[in-house]
Amino acid sequence: MATIFTRIINGEIPCYKVAEDEKNFAFLDINPLAEGHVLVVPKAEEDYIFNLSEDDYVSLQKFARKVAKGLKEAVPCKRVGVAVLGMEVPHAHIHLVPLQTEADLDFRKPKLSLPAEKMQQIANRIAEKI
Ligand code: AMP
Repeated sequence: MATIFTRIINGEIPCYKVAEDEKNFAFLDINPLAEGHVLVVPKAEEDYIFNLSEDDYVSLQKFARKVAKGLKEAVPCKRVGVAVLGMEVPHAHIHLVPLQTEADLDFRKPKLSLPAEKMQQIANRIAEKI
């Protein structure tokens, strides 16, 4: 069965998309740690990031770098933090989180729930900078 991220990539489930290329897709995390929390996902359906083919892994990291640069321009922050967990969704992905402090990358803290309009505005702002 297709993962939820494959269904998002295929347009079967809505998302706040920020960028896409031939091999990768980026959209807002629905329950962000901070405003502008983005997930960067390979289109190849692989659970564990380090089991991606070398080509797909390098492509994902290059794409994540491009998205992170746009994200930093769109959402004022000290740094864009990077994390790979995969504890919830079995489809490899990289979290990009705008950081003001290191606490912003603490996945144990309560997640934000932002109105749809705000999420769309953030996604549009990031997409424009990529
Ligand atoms: P993890 O697999 O532990 O890296 O966490 C999966 C992340 O995916 C969580 O931060 C969720 O909030 C996020 N997530 C799950 N479903 C969706 C969805 N439909 N759209 C956007 N983000 C999602």
